[in-house]
Amino acid sequence: MFSTILSNETIDPKKVERASQIIRDLQEELKGHIVNESGPFLAAIYDDKGNLIAKAANSVVSGCCSHNHAEMNAIKQAEEKLNTFDLAPHHLSLYVTAEPCLMCLGGILWSGIRAVYYGVPSARVEAITGFDEGFKPDWLNEFKRRGITVYGNIEVQLGEAILKSYVEQGKKIYKPSR
Ligand SMILES: [Zn+2]
Repeated sequence: MFSTILSNETIDPKKVERASQIIRDLQEELKGHIVNESGPFLAAIYDDKGNLIAKAANSVVSGCCSHNHAEMNAIKQAEEKLNTFDLAPHHLSLYVTAEPCLMCLGGILWSGIRAVYYGVPSARVEAITGFDEGFKPDWLNEFKRRGITVYGNIEVQLGEAILKSYVEQGKKIYKPSR
């Protein structure tokens, strides 16, 4: 299970185990959100004591806003709940069913989130769905330089199955008409 995990620190099996459990739960919950016309991504933010601080699905279509990715929605919810623009003192971790896109990488940097755990890597999201995840800088190392831990490729097969199902159901692939 650990062989496929990517990280910018020495892999801590306890973190992988906890992240796998959270991401599996998010994947299960995501199926219901898709039925209700959400985009196929779900994110949750937890504090270092294991308390859930925020959880949000992608709402680009229903919210009529191209910024409404799951990560951005969850960060906004956490900042409103904690009444701050700087989440760093709260020692928060973001868990998300797929690798953050270019916009969300920026959003995470600005938020003060301390750790990111993601499921399906962007290349697979793009191959399955046709979403444009943006050009990716060497973000694992850039985040490490800023003290942000990253673990990726968690529960990928389950995540891919949900994305495939989203496409097979004929759900909307939203993107600008270039
Ligand atoms: Zn995004």
